[in-house]
Amino acid sequence: MFSNKINRLFTTQLREWELAKVNYGQLEKVKTKKLDFGNFEVFVQFNPERIRSSAANVDTKSIEARPCFLCEKNRPPEQRGVLFGNNLTVLVNPFPIFTRHITIPSELHTDQRIRNNFNTMLSLAKALPQFTIFYNGPQCGASAPDHFHFQAGNSGFMPIEKDFRNGRLAQQLSENRGIEIWKWTRYLRGIITLKGYNMEKLAKAFDSIYDRFAEVQSDRPEPMLNILAGHSSSGWIIHIIPRKQHRPTQFFDGGNDQILLSPAAVDLGGVIITPREEDFTKITKEDVEDIFGQVCFKENELL
Ligand SMILES: [Zn+2]
Repeated sequence: MFSNKINRLFTTQLREWELAKVNYGQLEKVKTKKLDFGNFEVFVQFNPERIRSSAANVDTKSIEARPCFLCEKNRPPEQRGVLFGNNLTVLVNPFPIFTRHITIPSELHTDQRIRNNFNTMLSLAKALPQFTIFYNGPQCGASAPDHFHFQAGNSGFMPIEKDFRNGRLAQQLSENRGIEIWKWTRYLRGIITLKGYNMEKLAKAFDSIYDRFAEVQSDRPEPMLNILAGHSSSGWIIHIIPRKQHRPTQFFDGGNDQILLSPAAVDLGGVIITPREEDFTKITKEDVEDIFGQVCFKENELL
């Protein structure tokens, strides 16, 4: 089974690759705090190693000037990969948020785009049921917008997964030939959730959502979005989070007002990553609500 191959990859990489060994070891001591919103919780993780990602310059000029860390020729020699299909490689992410955190780049150095890769995301979710696969759009948290990739982390870590199941925050809007569409309320960030067993039909439902947002953001390379996908005996559950903004105003504020937070799929899945301790200490529920409001659509704007 493919899952077993990935388990073995972790075992050998954490034994043989010093950087990964140290960073996964540190993750056990990482500081977290819980913000209680009444109906749900959001966790904040102080993770200094994520500064590379959170503060990455992703403008075209900076991207072109740096060697791409997802291209095979630039990867650390100790980093091994496991092939998935004929174009993707599963790698242990050496700067983890999850106790099992993988990055899955394409073999080719080609732009981050979801349109023709959504089915692959579902295939990955099915092959790795113990993981939640996520996609960060080129202007929505991906630190390599020039190299197509997914990431994944062990399921059960992000609150959104259990928040979907608890029955109070997400409501089924419609069901069309086995594909359910769900919306969320009082969750402070607009999310469209798809659920079903049929990959083709899910892809069709995704395409129509994509097209709708592509029209609104026609000046962008693709509509801004983050996606989280998991698979279990009840089929696929896919959370689509359309975006309005790459980074909140707090990211650019000077001095004490600054919060170095660059929201991506994991943050919107309910685990906020702060690479600076001062931000970890000072961030409040009000800040999180404000930041979600800036970067996401409102719930009633989506459907
Ligand atoms: Zn590359």
